[in-house]
Amino acid sequence: MSLRSPEALGPDAGLLSTLTPPAFTPDSDPLEVIRWALAAHPELLMPSAFNLNGVVLIDLAARAGYRGEVVFVDTGYHFPETLATRDRLAARYPQLKFVTLNAGASPEDGQTDPALYAADPDACCAVRKVAPLQDYLRHRGPSALLNARSRDQASTRADIPFVETGGARLKVNPLAHWTREQLEAYAAEHALPVNPLYFDGFLSIGCWICTRAVRPGEDARAGRWAGQGKTECGLWAGNGKL
Ligand code: SF4
Repeated sequence: MSLRSPEALGPDAGLLSTLTPPAFTPDSDPLEVIRWALAAHPELLMPSAFNLNGVVLIDLAARAGYRGEVVFVDTGYHFPETLATRDRLAARYPQLKFVTLNAGASPEDGQTDPALYAADPDACCAVRKVAPLQDYLRHRGPSALLNARSRDQASTRADIPFVETGGARLKVNPLAHWTREQLEAYAAEHALPVNPLYFDGFLSIGCWICTRAVRPGEDARAGRWAGQGKTECGLWAGNGKL
């Protein structure tokens, strides 16, 4: 692909300059990143599982002027505390639209064999988590997603940029450079409704049947699919990534 000067583009130059991210640095304010994303991609969508990062991002996005959807996929295996956290957030941010896909799912609903999570967790995640969100995004068609991942969550996320290409659409990661300490401090300062399981050592919370508390010295995502050689659900990495 060749790049043309703004002058050569004529009336499209303004659009190009809006779509091109500024030269963010690791110290860039997440609010600045979100505001750029809102200007460049007004139809932006935010998937969320309401972990610490997600709760902080929802608050920052609302402050930055985001008024779009917060999309959650009910796999049927979520902790009650996670569903309650979603409901607390929906009450706190009425200016956002909280959408639950696959609402009412349960382990016995027939979407997957009840033992699939143990036999083939990639296949289980593909059916219960990735497919509902992929279908919804195909229907809604956003050009970019707002996402809460950060570099210090896991060694596999150590290179996450603010603006991530690859996959079907752009991912904007305003918290890429924030540490867990910064996230906790922000949540405390603003009295955010953090999932109470977080304070019991569940630093990353997915389906209850595939999540354990993190042990001292482990990274934040070590409790996800522990011992199964799996680190990602497939939303943000792998062939089916968003
Ligand atoms: S996290 Fe576990 S239970 Fe949840 S969708 Fe993935 S494999 Fe299935």
